[in-house]
Formats: sequence, structure tokens, C-alpha cells
Amino acid sequence: MNKLERSAVSVPKAAENNQSPLLGFLQDCHRRYADNMDGALADYIPELSKADPAHFGISLVTIDGHAYEVGDTQVPFTIQSISKAFVFALALDLVGPENVESKIGVEPSGEAFNAIRLNAQNRPFNAMVNAGAIACSGIIHAARGDDAFDTIRQAMSRFAGRDLDVDDAVFQSERATGDRNRAIGYLLRSSSVIGTDVTAVLDVYFRQCSILVNAHDIAVMAATLGNRGINPVTGEQVVAPYSVARALSVMTSSGMYDYAGEWIYRVGLPAKSGVGGGIVATFPSQFGLGTFSPLLDSHGNSTRGIKVCETLSEHFNLHMLNRTSNAHSCLLADYDLAKSSSHRSRRPDEMDILIEHHDKVRILELFGALAFAEVDYVTRQLTRNPNPLFMVVDFRRTAGITGAATKLLIDSFGTLAVKGVTVIVTGIDRKTAALADFREAIKNSPSIRNFPLLDEAIEWSEDQIIYRFGGNVDFKETLHLDEQALLKSLTESELDALAALGAVKTFESGERVITANEPASSLYFLLRGMVSVKLPTGVRLATLTSGMVFGEMALIEERRTADIVADTKIICHVIPLAAFHAFCNKNPKVSEKIMRNLSMLLAARLIKANKKVDLLSAN
Ligand code: GLN
Repeated sequence: MNKLERSAVSVPKAAENNQSPLLGFLQDCHRRYADNMDGALADYIPELSKADPAHFGISLVTIDGHAYEVGDTQVPFTIQSISKAFVFALALDLVGPENVESKIGVEPSGEAFNAIRLNAQNRPFNAMVNAGAIACSGIIHAARGDDAFDTIRQAMSRFAGRDLDVDDAVFQSERATGDRNRAIGYLLRSSSVIGTDVTAVLDVYFRQCSILVNAHDIAVMAATLGNRGINPVTGEQVVAPYSVARALSVMTSSGMYDYAGEWIYRVGLPAKSGVGGGIVATFPSQFGLGTFSPLLDSHGNSTRGIKVCETLSEHFNLHMLNRTSNAHSCLLADYDLAKSSSHRSRRPDEMDILIEHHDKVRILELFGALAFAEVDYVTRQLTRNPNPLFMVVDFRRTAGITGAATKLLIDSFGTLAVKGVTVIVTGIDRKTAALADFREAIKNSPSIRNFPLLDEAIEWSEDQIIYRFGGNVDFKETLHLDEQALLKSLTESELDALAALGAVKTFESGERVITANEPASSLYFLLRGMVSVKLPTGVRLATLTSGMVFGEMALIEERRTADIVADTKIICHVIPLAAFHAFCNKNPKVSEKIMRNLSMLLAARLIKANKKVDLLSAN
């Protein structure tokens, strides 16, 4: 029994030699086991006994397609039984699970890979032992005839991301000496698991076992299994997720022959080995591992490969059944208008409405990868009383949403709609493939509104609240400067004198009134209509309506810091800065009042920004 050597491998300090800690770990692993000469070369296929026992390669390919390579990862060897997992997935994909599952069982056999035995129903125990694998080759032969092998070779090539060839010498050697497999083949024919042409089926099987791969190839193949059938390097969907999950299931229970139970107990990762010296192991959703070392133990598994897998799993705690996740961490923030409103600046009468009805708009900002548990938690938050009128759910920081999570969310949104809550989603229109199914589900749910930006959704909800509770949203005219917050507490005559310095001007909808980086020359008091403060990238910083001033930063900064674009036709009272300054110099009391008002306006903006930061870091 292979007992785990705890903490046997020390990780070199990655920071010191400026390399990946994972690569350092794998290198250390390689160094540690390279001298281990336990085991023997497979010699029942004469050609395999010519392998170099010193060869040893480790390749790990991550779910994002990055490869870590140590040792002989480019040395070719025959894939042998590792092919069984991939051909099983291919068969499920090609002829459908019913056909495959009627011919091949999914129970562990507890016997050696080449046992000449079937189960009580005269079916192979599973597709990872020779009997099941030959049955699988038979299924593909029945479906594709003479093209069967090429179908397999092409599928394996897509799993590996490159065109794979056959080692003809190994193929001939195995065909010449494969009487055990021939015995299995005839047993399968007598039980009607395969058709009459046993020789042709066995040829397909022997050839598929003789496909040449290296450790890097099988790591990519393993990573493809870990990525629901999408090759993480090429991006190609090789087989359907169903087929992958079923292949991984049988790898889990039977991938390591009569060592399978011990393996899953200790290492806890689905894996498959071959007598050519390869082992693939997959950590679903994380990585694929490929090891190559031709010295085998009595079960036919690579001795060094087993050690690498055990050490890696132990050191990083990778047993797939030893996992947890914090469902609550997906809720970044949960707030209403009292805590954070849109970038739209509102007049005092509008503000009053929003303050009174602040809890009618609730905003949930979600984060990370949303799976079953995370979204179940979110749905419980969504339905918590009291219910708002508008529920804004922001997905801008989510990495993806699983199918189960999508079902739960869409159901929950439906329940809210029935209760009269308008659901608005934001941030789902990014090009993330992991959101594609969710986007589709939203498209098919007409009651759910979708805004690209969170700020737009909040602003829209605020507008609805203002309409509904008696406000008139825009276009109110404030033709006199005494309604301007910047000019608060100026006397009638001071206001008149100030007004006389400038003139009333009109700008059309869409017109750019101020351009970023240009020198500032005027102050604009908005009398009618709406403008947006925008960065040159188009991101909106604020929207202002009548009664508000813009261009006022010119009192502090000489150049414009952002664009101002008219959202509607606007009327402004425009006062040239030079005249304004001259007036202030002559009237220090006016100057003092305006500066105090300006400080108040800036302080209010700062308080709002701080609140938002606080909100996001509190959760
Ligand atoms: N081609 C080999 C055989 O059938 C495959 C065995 C294996 O890799 N375990 O004997």
C-alpha cells in the first residue's frame, strides 16, 4: 500500500527565483521521485519493454489553458488504457447514452484490467477495463465501420489539441501477442455485446491503444475533461458535458483498475492510467494533470505517476470530496437609495421624494462565480421582506452562473414579478461566455428589465419613484438665479448684478457644451433641461437638471476635467469667468458666500462617494 508521506515535498520560495509556486512544487516533486526505480516495464506487449525506465515527465494544464511542464513532457509514448476514458466519452456522444449503457456497465470490477470476465448480465463491468473498452470500440465500429479508428483518432486529437499519430510498431506488437484481448473479444461476441467481426473491432482497439501522446498532450486531454469537454487551449467543445461527466464518473470508480478504491480514497481525483506509463488525473473545473513514467506497479499503474498524484493532492488538499465554499461571499452589497443613489443630481423637491421612498428601490451587487449554494442564498435575500417596488441586481462583477443557479434565479425573479416588484438586471451584457445561458434566460423573461450599467438602472428606478409619488422629473424651469445652490443667500441686488455679467444661451440636445482638458472660460447655471458630466470614455459621472451649476470646478481648476453634454435642449445662464472673478474681487462678501456654497456642494459629493466605498467594503 502506498502510504502518503506527509509534507515530503517542500516548496521552493517562488518569490526568490521569480517563478510560479506551482511550477516550483512540480519541479521539487520531479526531483524527489526521479531516482525511484520501483516497478517494472510492461513486457507482455514486447515493444513496450523497450521503453527507457528513466523517463519521467509531469505536465499540469490549468482550466485557463496554462501549462506547467517538468521533465520529459515531450517524450512520446503510447496512450494505451488512457484511451478508454476518452473513447467511452466519444461513444456516449456518438451513439447516445442509452445505446452505450445497454451494452456496458458502470460498476467497478475489482479485478485486473485484462480479466476475461463479464458481469451477471454478460456485460463488461465498465468501460475502463479491457472488456468494456473493446465493447466501446465495437460500438464505434458498428456506427462508423471502416472509419471507426479514424473517428477515434480525430476525437483524441481534438482532446489533445493537435493531430495524433499511431506507433505502428507497438500496434503490430500488441496485435501479434494480444490473445487475452482476442479471448475477451470472442466472449463479447458470444454475448452479443459486439458484432461478428471480432478481428476488425480488436484492430480498432489495438490501434487506439497505440496512439502516440506525450505528458503535455494527456494533461491537455485531462484539462478538457475538467472543463466540461471544452479544450482550454483551443477552445473547442470536443464532446458534450454529459459525456464528460459520465466518463469522469467511471474514471472515479474504476479508472485505476483494482487500485481504484484505494486511489479515490487517498487522492480523490478521477484518473486513468495506461501500461505505456501515462496517468491522467482531472480536478473538475480546476486543472488536468498528465504524468509519464513507464515503470509500473503490480496493478499496471505508473509508480512515479502515482507518487506525483498523491503528493500533489495531499500537499494542496485537492481531494474532490474535501471542498467547501462560502455562499455568502457572493453578495457584495445590499442597499437602498438611502445609502447610495444614482449619479443623477436631483433638485430638492425630487430629493424629498427619494428620501421618503428610499426603501422602494433595493440594489443587490453580486460577485464571483454563482453556483447553486450562492444563488440559493441570494434568492433568500431577494424575497426577504419588506419588498421594494424595484429590485436592481447587478452582475458586473460576477464570473459566471451555473445552469442550476440560473434556474433558481429566474424562478425567484418570477416570484418577485408576481408580487409586483420590477426586477432589473445590470452588467450581464459582457462578452463572458460563462454568462451566455443566463443572458438567454433573461432575454426569454419579458418581465425582467436589462440595463447595461448599474447607475442607469438606479436612475431609471428613481425616475419611476419620482413620477409615481408626485414629482415632475425634468424640464422644470428655474429661470431665476436665486434657485441656484451655488448662489444661496446672495441678496436680490447681488444676484441681479451677477446676472448682468452674462447672458442666457441655448444648446441643442446632444451638443457638447464643455470639452475635457480645454481651458475653462465660463460658469453655466442650468435654467432648463438636463446635462451629463462624462469622461471622454463615455462613462457618466453625473447628470444635472435645472437649478444646478456646471463648469463650477473652474473656480478651483483651470482646465476642464470632464465633458458636459446636453441630454435635452438646454437653457443656461452663462457667466464669463473673467467677469465673475472681477466681480468677486470687488465684492469680497459675495465671494465668501459663493466659496462657502461651493464647499458645501463638494462636501456633499465627497460624502456620497465615501458612502459608496464604505458600502462595498462592509460586506
Ligand atoms: N493495450 C493494452 C491492453 O489491452 C492496454 C492495457 C492498459 O493500458 N492497461 O492490454
